[in-house]
Amino acid sequence: MAKRIGVLAVQGAFAEHEAMLRALGAACHELRNMADLEEKPDGLVLPGGESTVQRKILMESGMLAPIKSWIEEGMPVLATCAGLILLAEYLSNDTRTCFRTLPVTVRRNAYGRQLGSFVTEAEVRHIGRMRQNFIRAPYIEQVSPGVEVLSETDGHVTAVRHDHQLALSFHPEVGHDTRLHEAFLQMM
Ligand code: GLN
Repeated sequence: MAKRIGVLAVQGAFAEHEAMLRALGAACHELRNMADLEEKPDGLVLPGGESTVQRKILMESGMLAPIKSWIEEGMPVLATCAGLILLAEYLSNDTRTCFRTLPVTVRRNAYGRQLGSFVTEAEVRHIGRMRQNFIRAPYIEQVSPGVEVLSETDGHVTAVRHDHQLALSFHPEVGHDTRLHEAFLQMM
């Protein structure tokens, strides 16, 4: 049976994730309001976008608490960019934390205005070299014990895994490299 992935679809780059996951044989189910949470998916995607807007909609719709429970119960999660901000336990330059299930400290818009968006290539542990797209990206300033660092760029952590949570500063859904999405599907 196809794995069923719940994709947070309230704002941001959810369609790109869905296209990639469908190409890999998964079924995607958009999460927009409480009614969409009735059936529990096998995995969860938190896309890039604007974390403050996503957080506000999660709170107002009532979806924040049930999705947080799914993650705490061990549902595999792939989070990119704004999604990483939503998962972070701490933010160093903002008070608006959301799920707080990932024991790391994240800096929002960490690359500043000058370097708002850029593409680079770096090694990702267990995967190999990857082209990485950064779009007004956060990076990870501190990781707690038990968090595996998967990638670093210019001395900053940009990808981590903690048990079933895979979180990235960059955007693998932009482009054609499906290896991180494949790794995510294998976590189920
Ligand atoms: N700058 C955005 C935020 O703080 C994240 C950017 C992104 O997801 N591409 O939410």
